[in-house]
Formats: sequence, structure tokens, C-alpha cells
Amino acid sequence: MRILKFGGSSISTPDRVRHVAGIIAREAEQNNVGIVVSAFGGITDLLIEAADAAAIGDDRYRVIARELRERHESAAEELAGAEGLVAVRSKIDAILDEFDDRLHGISLVGECSLRTRDSVLSCGERLSSILVAAALEAKGVAAEACDARNLILTDSNYGNARVDFEVSFERINAHFAEAERVQIVTGFISRDKDSETTTLGRGGSDFTAALLGAALSASSVEIWTDVDGVMSADPRLVTQAFSLPSLSYDELMELSHFGAKVVYPPTVRPARTHHIPLLIRNTLNPGFSGTRIVERSEGNGHPVRGISSINDIALLRLEGDGMVGVPGIAKRLFGALARREISVVLISQASSEHSICFAVEPASVESARIGVEAEFELERRDGFVNDLVIEKDFSVIAVVGEAMSQIPGIAGKVFSVLGENGVNVRAIAQGSSELNISLVVDRRQEARALNAIHDAFFPELAPSAAGRAAASKIPVAILGATGTVGQRMIAWLEDHPWFTVKEVIASEASAGKRYRDAVRWLLPTAMPPDVGDLVVQTLDASVKSPLVLSALDASLAGPVEPELAANGHLVVSNAGAHRMRADVPLLIPEVNPDHLGLIEKQPYQKGAIVTNPNCSTIGLVLALKPLADAFGLGSINVVTMQAASGAGFPGVSSLELIDNLVPFIGGEEEKLESEARKILGRFDGHCIDTADITVSAQCNRVAVLDGHTVCVSLGLQSEANSNDIIEAWSSFSGQPQHLGLPSAPLKPLIYDHSPLAPQPRLHRLAGRGMAVTIGRLRPCAILGHKFVLVSHNTIRGAAGGAILAAEMSVAQSVVAGLAPPAKVEN
Ligand code: ADP
Ligand code: ASP
Ligand code: MG
Repeated sequence: MRILKFGGSSISTPDRVRHVAGIIAREAEQNNVGIVVSAFGGITDLLIEAADAAAIGDDRYRVIARELRERHESAAEELAGAEGLVAVRSKIDAILDEFDDRLHGISLVGECSLRTRDSVLSCGERLSSILVAAALEAKGVAAEACDARNLILTDSNYGNARVDFEVSFERINAHFAEAERVQIVTGFISRDKDSETTTLGRGGSDFTAALLGAALSASSVEIWTDVDGVMSADPRLVTQAFSLPSLSYDELMELSHFGAKVVYPPTVRPARTHHIPLLIRNTLNPGFSGTRIVERSEGNGHPVRGISSINDIALLRLEGDGMVGVPGIAKRLFGALARREISVVLISQASSEHSICFAVEPASVESARIGVEAEFELERRDGFVNDLVIEKDFSVIAVVGEAMSQIPGIAGKVFSVLGENGVNVRAIAQGSSELNISLVVDRRQEARALNAIHDAFFPELAPSAAGRAAASKIPVAILGATGTVGQRMIAWLEDHPWFTVKEVIASEASAGKRYRDAVRWLLPTAMPPDVGDLVVQTLDASVKSPLVLSALDASLAGPVEPELAANGHLVVSNAGAHRMRADVPLLIPEVNPDHLGLIEKQPYQKGAIVTNPNCSTIGLVLALKPLADAFGLGSINVVTMQAASGAGFPGVSSLELIDNLVPFIGGEEEKLESEARKILGRFDGHCIDTADITVSAQCNRVAVLDGHTVCVSLGLQSEANSNDIIEAWSSFSGQPQHLGLPSAPLKPLIYDHSPLAPQPRLHRLAGRGMAVTIGRLRPCAILGHKFVLVSHNTIRGAAGGAILAAEMSVAQSVVAGLAPPAKVEN
């Protein structure tokens, strides 16, 4: 007898179910087989979502119920043969009706107990087993669905029940002794002694297969999934991951305990104890032998076999002077956690015994806090032990390999490669078996850490420096790609070391055309050819790139940008729509990088909106910032002379501007006055306390192509002479310069002593258009000081400024998973 288990990923569509039925039919011809199936791909998650929605009275549960019914009924139509269809439909309809009733019940009582949840979840496997059996019957293989609740007895620990092996093994044997058809057994589900449905933990179908295999002394238990067996790392995170032909039970345990979802950890024990070979195979590549799990690692010349990770854990730390040298602290701490059934992922204690650090799943944090604080109540009251320190958003990375224990320097290599790649390690733990080194890193650096370690230990597979650099650039979508600012963004990003333009989005009129045909290219430099080849999409197309640079009109940006952020994108916008929103940073990276902290207040789970100020505000505020810091600002009077390119193309009619000046730019004066106060305001960790300054602005459009000139008069709170002020400007730099961001000018402010400086034509391209040139500092009879500045309105004032803001946001990892690509050695 062989036990074959097919996971949800192998049966996510009727086509795949048919394919699996083909595999089963072939195997059943040669051997006696028992089959275990999971729910169809994604169904268990959907069931949980429905139960949660029903419990809070959210009607979405009805939508999910309908989706569930449609998906299974149409699968029945596709899979069951004509004779079988009526019977199959009545079986699945009975389960779907039961599901509807249960959800209705949950919505009436307004809560879903773990017990009820388990019976809701059982529907997924019960439905899939019936449909897989039907697909086999349609192929002429005698098969029947088997409800594992009649076979597996557990305790009543709903959601993660413990199995009574003895009784379950007896029942399994009794059932299979009688069975004449191929049994399609539901994975994951079981029953307690009161006949209530229980489940074996997420991913538990693997465990069901091992239980069956152990009970029936199967010749093998095969876990069929959607990848080529157990791989050296999760292939979704590490593109270079490769399949491992063999792996020891211990290695598999460690990898799966630390997140390699490919096998559910409890699966290993019954297989190992009963000496049943465990194989991991690929449904999509059935000819491939996959991974065989063996008693002792066979080694492949690499000390490290695999690297896995758990994406979201919390780090908790108990510390206090009263812990040093006092025996029993650890016992009490972990006893308190155990009593609350909290599973501890990792423990690390410094030898000073001053603190014990441990990692748990985020869902257990609150319970851990209550348990630990109660346990140490007396010590806390006397000040011997401090409040539990809780930090979230970490990942645990585990480096696993039996041969690691014989080779010195593995841990050193792991840490040095992480250091070289800018990954900060927050905690470490190594089992004394030296089978596993685990480290805790910032969640946003997980993929980078995994790839860096993988490349270091499997250097022959590491891509070439150039390949890695190209592959690791962050894909960018440009919204409003055909406009003046969109074009500047595209030109600026040519050969950018971090970002690469993958999507261009513009109005209906351009949609479907190649960018080169859709755009009227206005820049003096050539259009980047690969962008020219991209097909322009419309705004309603679903944007894929994680980073979105928006050069939209404010009216369009209003609804679109929040939607994109809600979909997980980092949106860096040059549009005015959200600049003054209380939870949106209005960023000049040299001036207020700390305002990025506002992103935590945004309502998006993963994405975020960051905005770039108005084109004239940027030059002005850059010049004001060092003066604000050194002398304090008083009143500010500003007169701008703004270039025609700021009005877009064709913008202001040329006839209006020749021999003329237009003393009005809609909304501009108000923007200058309000934005400067927000940018120079103080972020107190919650909101921006706007700067107490008064700005009066007058804005004019002049016949200059690019470059805004701003004449400023201002008062300072403390005495300053010209030299002091010029020194403040000349020595000014900010985080972009310290971090060496790709678009940061070496010097953001340049003072030019020439009496004729600055002029747009001469100075707008200072620092590649990213620096502001200031000149003509002189006394002002009314306010104290006056000067003139020039800054490039579509580079620093728009495209370049937005890109620098994007670089800053990425450097600060404000959105999970978006970090600067690792540095590559050439
Ligand atoms: P199934 O639906 O078949 O149970 P799972 O989604 O539970 O499949 O597990 C398979 C997935 O596990 C793979 O698609 C892969 O992304 C992930 N995975 C994580 N780590 C590893 C690893 N080291 N080797 C193989 N797969 C891994
Ligand atoms: N369907 C269950 C889950 O998604 C069990 C499994 O797939 O193994 O967790
Ligand atoms: Mg699984």
C-alpha cells in the first residue's frame, strides 16, 4: 500500500483535478493506493474568511458562500461523468447547505467558537474528496470518498487537535480492510470523543497521510505538491532555489518548523517512528523523483542543506536586574507560556542572564503578555523585572544542515554576508545539535536575507553580478506617463540602479499603443528604447509594479492613488490631491525624512502614499530649512517667476507669454503658503505639528522654458550676518546625501556669489537639476534679508524630487518587501 496525498495547490482547478485523477489512475494500476486530499486550493482560507465575516455580521459571508457553491458545483459538472452527476450534486449540495446553515447561525449569535470553526472548515476537504472520487469514477477507476472523521480520533483541542494514535490506527485498519474501492480520504479533519469535528492544524492533510501510512504500514507516504520536492529555499522567495534529492528527517523537521510550508511538521514523526519512507513529489512534474526523506543526511558537498523562514513573528524580551543569577526564571517564564498553550518559535538568552528573548506568532502576543506579567507580578512590583518588551514585524530565518556541525565558521559566514547586505540581525539561536542556526531579522529584509545566504552557500548558482542587479531592480509603473513630468520620470530612471520602468499608464487615447507612438517626446535626450517599446495601459488596468510613481492630474490622482495603496503599492505622487492629508508625508528627503513615520497611520495593510511638494515649494523650503535650524524663521515674503513647462504641454499659450508675464497660477500661492508649514512642521510620532511661520506668496508665469526663480525676503528669529547664512546653506546636507541615494545631489544648496546669479538658463541644471542655486543675498529694509533662488521645476520640483522621495521611502523600507537591491560586487 502506498499513500499519496494531494495538496490544495495540486487540485486548485477542475483541470488540475483531472490531471491528478490521471496520476492516481496510473499509480492505482500498479499498486494498492490510499489517497488523501486537501480542500481545493484557497478554499480553507475562504472558509475562514466567511466564518470571520459572519461572526461580525458582515454580509460578505453570503458572497463567499455563493462563490463556494459556484466553484464546487461547476467542478462537479466538469468532473463527474453523466451517470454520476446527480448523486455527486446531491452529496455536495448537502454539504454546501450545511455550510450555509452554519454561517447563518454564526451571524445570528455574532461569534464563531473554535469548535464551530472546525466544522465550517471541514466542508473544504469533504467537498474535494467527493469531487476527486467523482473524477476517478469518470475515468473508470473504482473510487469512493472517505470522511476521515470516522477514522481519526483526537482530543477536543479545536483548531489543532492531538491524535489518539491507538484508536485511530485501529479504525484506519478496520476501514481499509473492508474497502474495495480506492479510498479518497479527507485530509486535515477528525473527530473528538463527543463526535464533534476537529482539525489537525493548518496544512494538516500531510499529517493525515502520515497517520494512514503509519497505521497501514505503507511502503511509502508521498506528499504531492506544486514544486519539485523540498527545495533549498522557498522558490517563491529565492529564485535560485533548487530541489534536494534527499534530506534527513531532522533536516526536514527543522526546515518545516521554520516555515518551509511544503510539509507540515507533525507529519515527520509517525513516518519516522514507523519507518515509512516519506517522498515529496511534484504533481506538475510527475516524472521527477522529488525528495526522499531518509534517516541520515546523504550530504551533497554543501554543509547547508536549506534555508527557510517564518515571515511574521513578534520578538518578546523579559529583562531586569533581578533576573541575574536567580535560578528558575526561565522555567517560570516558559511554564507561563506553556500553560497558555503558546508555542515558542525561538529562544535566546544572553549569558549575562539579564534578559531572555523569545519569538512567538503575532496572534499569541497578547496572551503571552498577560501570562508573563501575571507570573512575574511580584518581581515587577519590586522593580526586579521590567515590563515585557514587545516588538513586531520580524521574520525568523533558519539555516539548516546536518553537516554544519562538523564545519567551523558557518555562523560567521552567515553573519558576515548579512552584514555585507545591510541586514540587521536582532536575535540569534543555535541548537546544540548545530543542525540549525536561526536568526531574527526585520520582516522587510526577509527576502534579501534569504537570497544573500543562499548565494553565499551555493555560489555556483548565484547569478552573475549583472544578472542579479537587473533582476533585483524594483519594477515601477509611471502614471501619467505621456505628460511632461511622466517623461522626465522615464528619462531619469534610465539606468537607475534601483528602479526599472515596467509599466506606463496614460489616458484612454494612448491606451494600447506603444509608448513611443503614444507620446509627444519633449525632452532633449533620447527616449529610453525599452520604455518606448512598452504598451501603454489605461488607469483601470491592474497595476503590477510594487512602486508606482504618479504624475497624474490631481483630479485623477484623488481616487486612484488610495486604491493603489490599498492594493499594496507604494505610491509616490507628484500630484496635489493628497499632499495635505494628515497621514500622508509631504516629503523633501533632505528636509523631513522623519515624516515618513506618518505612513504607520495610513489605513493600508501593506501599501502607502508619499507625496512630493509643489514645484516652487521644494526650492523655497530647501533654502529655508538650514536657516530655520540655525536661526529660526520669521515672516517670509515670496515672489515666484515660474517656467512655462510647469503648466504642462502646450500649457500656457506662447502668445500669452511672449512680451508678457501672467500674474496668476491657479492654486499656486495657497500651495506655497500651506505646504511650507507642513514640511517644516515637527512630527511627534503621531501627527505633524505645523511650523509656526507665515508665508506670503505671489506667483507669476514667465517666458522661461524650465527653471523657477523665486525672490525671497524673510525675517530670522536670531541675529545672522551674510556669512553665517551662506555658511548655513553651503554646509547643508541631509539623509539622502548621507545614505548616498542614487538621485541625491552631492550638495543640495549652492550659493553663487556672482551679482548676476542665479538665472534659470545658467543654473537650473546644477546637480543634474536636483540642486538649488541661491544668490544675491542682501539686507532687506523691511524683513531683514533677501535673496534669489533658482531650481529646476520638472526635475527637483517634480520628477527627480518624486524619485528621490521614492528612494528615501525604499531606503527606509516603509513598505514591506520593498528595499534597495543588494549591492553587487563586480
Ligand atoms: P499543498 O497545497 O500542496 O499542501 P503548500 O502550499 O502547503 O502546498 O506547500 C507548497 C509550497 O511550499 C510551495 O509552493 C512553496 O512555495 C512552499 N515552500 C516553502 N519552502 C519551501 C521549500 N524549502 N521547498 C519547497 N517548497 C517550499
Ligand atoms: N486545507 C487545509 C489547509 O489549508 C489542510 C491542508 O491543506 O493540508 O490548511
Ligand atoms: Mg500544504
